[in-house]
This record gives sequence, C-alpha cells and structure tokens, in this order.
Amino acid sequence: MLTEAVILAQGNELTQGLTLDTNSHWLASRLVELGITVRRVMTAPDRLEDIVEILRRGAELAPIVVSTGGLGPTRDDLTAQAAALAFGGSLRLHEDALAQVQARFVAFGRVMAEVNRKQAVLPDGCRVLENLWGTAPGFSVDSGSSRLYFLPGVPREMKPMFDRHVLPDVLARHRISAPLHVTVRVTGVPESVLEEKMQGLERPGLEIGFRTKLPENHVKLRFEPGFPAAERLALVEEVRARIGWRAFGVDSGDLAEVVGQALAARGETLALAESCTAGSLSAWVGSVPGASRYLLEGAVVYSNEAKVRTCGVDPALLEEHGAVSEPVARQLARGIRARAGATWGIGITGIAGPGGGTEAKPVGTVHVALAGPETFEEHRALRIPGDRARVVSLSAAAALEMLWRRLSV
Ligand code: AMP
Ligand code: MG
Repeated sequence: MLTEAVILAQGNELTQGLTLDTNSHWLASRLVELGITVRRVMTAPDRLEDIVEILRRGAELAPIVVSTGGLGPTRDDLTAQAAALAFGGSLRLHEDALAQVQARFVAFGRVMAEVNRKQAVLPDGCRVLENLWGTAPGFSVDSGSSRLYFLPGVPREMKPMFDRHVLPDVLARHRISAPLHVTVRVTGVPESVLEEKMQGLERPGLEIGFRTKLPENHVKLRFEPGFPAAERLALVEEVRARIGWRAFGVDSGDLAEVVGQALAARGETLALAESCTAGSLSAWVGSVPGASRYLLEGAVVYSNEAKVRTCGVDPALLEEHGAVSEPVARQLARGIRARAGATWGIGITGIAGPGGGTEAKPVGTVHVALAGPETFEEHRALRIPGDRARVVSLSAAAALEMLWRRLSV
C-alpha cells in the first residue's frame, strides 16, 4: 500500500525569497528514498491563519506530516500556537521540555533568557521531541489518523532530529517497503541521447528517469520493492553497456573521485595546466580526499608568458596559432607532464566568455589535450554553448573524461 506524506515549511524568510527552502528539499528526498510518496510541499509565512490552514490541509491529505520552522523563541515563531489552534487544543508549559531547553543552555555555557521559556510552551497532549543539537524542542501531535511532526527550522538541527525521532516512529507506524534506487552516472552524453539509448528497457516495477547535475547526467533507476535482484543487476549492466565507457559509475562518486580511484589503483599520477578553467579542474581533482596520492601539480597559465615559462610552449606556435589552439593545448599537456614528472598531463585552453570571442574562435571554443606515457597524446576541440561558469565546468569535465577513457579500459 502507498504511504503518503506532506511536507510543510514555515517562515517569512522563505516566502520573501530570503532563504532557500532546503529543508523541504532534503525531507522530500529522504521520504522518497524510504518509499513514501510526497503529496504536497506547502510553505506559509509567519502568519497564524496561514499556518493553521496548511496544518489542517496537511493532516487531511496524508497520515504523515513533517513541518519545519517556527519553533524559535521570538514572537514571529507561531507554530505551537497554530498547532493548538488547528486541532482544537490549548497550549501549556511542558516541564520536561523546559528542562531540555535549560539543559541545552547549560551545555552551551550560556544563561537562558526568559523568552526561551516560550520554546517549552507546546500543545497540551503533544509528544516532546528532544533537540540535542539546539534549544528548540520539537513535538508531534495527532489529528484523526494523521501524525504531525514539528521540527526546528535550522537545518543542522532538523536533519538529526528527523533521523532520531521521526524516522523510527514512521517506520514503526507504517508498513513501508523501500524501493531500490540506482544511479548510473554519465559524462558527456546529453539527456536526449540517454533517453533514446534507454528505449525498450521499460518494464513493470521499473521507473527510468534522467537528471542533469552539471557537468554530469544521471540515469535514475527506481525498482519497486520485490523486484527480482538478478533481473535488477542484469538491467543495471544493460544500462551501462548501452552507454559504454561514458557511464563512469553506478552509485559512485563524481568523475574526479572515480578517476582518482583509478589513478591510485594503478599507481599513476596527474599534472594539470589550465588556462581558461583557471584552476577549476585542479580544485575539483583536489577536492577528493586522498588526492595527494596522484595529483602532483596544477598550474594556472593564463598569460602567454606563463604558458611558455611553465609548460615550455613554443612562442612561435602561440604567434602562429594563438593561445586557444590545438598545438598549444597539446604543448600545455606535454609540458606540465614533463615538468611534474607525472604519468598524465592535461592542458586546457579556451575562451570562457562572455568577452574575447571572434568569428573564427567564438566564446565556448576550448581545446583540451591529454599527454601520457611514451608518446601518447590526444586532443579534443570543443564548442560549449552557455555562460562562463558552464564553459569552465564542461571544459574541466571534458578534459577529465579524456583521461577516464584511457583509465577505464
Ligand atoms: P525557525 O525554526 O523558524 O526559528 O528557523 C530558524 C532558522 O532556520 C531560520 O532563520 C532559517 O535560517 C532556517 N530555516 C527555517 N526554515 C528553513 C527551511 N525550510 N530551509 C532552510 N532553512 C530554514
Ligand atoms: Mg521562523
């Protein structure tokens, strides 16, 4: 049977566009992962009638309602009052909740202000949910067959409270069998092409979806509970096979992580010479824990002089072909590889925009090159549409992709 939930968020900062509602985003992904269907995500400002309305509506719609925000000590935090009003109860001071608030202040070495007593004034008959991460206790109340959980708005407190209080209670009260989600991570294949490649794979119990997470695309497979494991594994393999080497991972880390693991496993190393990406690729590769095992050097070689001085690019080539050219990308890759004594060298040069484009070399023109053992060398010319950030991100990914292709065989 389908188990359904409603997510509620409260606060003027949300309805005024000051704070992004990351709580609902996080709760939605968490609930869906558990196999719960989210019927609504509703947001109200700090206004009593509006909060009462979404609380009542939430309780009508689903047996599980998770609300965040509005539990602070200030007068604009109205959730406890709204909950009492919505379901015909009254408010009272909960001594156990007050003891918890006081204990948090002691733990933080601070003196409790009188206004914080308000955080222990909760609907009569509610269950208090202890907050070990902050001062505002949460609570839950029942209305008909629905249970509403109220958590603080601060994400750092809300998330562990969901895991500690809401999750076990939901699992105890509902028979939920979680579906199985598998993510196949793909580099350099547009969504439309992925969609085509997946044709004919549809079957009962399997949902296929696509997501773009720049610079990657994901194929999301959702298997219903009870889907035969052998068939599931075969299908995941089939998806991989249809995409080929560009499907670099299944439920894996990103491309930098996967490339890094491959380099470490082979005992190989990498050096990077970046012009238009200005160190983005180095930062990305270096963001992976343990990158020092294989990342030897990354140089930002923006000016022609830097390209010559650091990577030994031939000034005559720069003169003849320009900095954004195949021969220069190749010399950057070879030059930085030699300088660092690395197994692999990557060179990137291009025009990230928005200025600097010409008719022959429009914005988004990028040359990436890979140099490797012996005389191995490879080059790709790219034309990347979009803004500066996109050109930088996709150039870095294209360069890493060239290396992944060599490491994946
Ligand atoms: P509150 O529990 O309403 O006092 O919220 C405390 C703080 O948590 C707010 O000032 C916001 O910075 C943050 N917050 C509240 N609701 C959300 C939300 N839905 N998503 C992200 N942050 C939030
Ligand atoms: Mg608030």
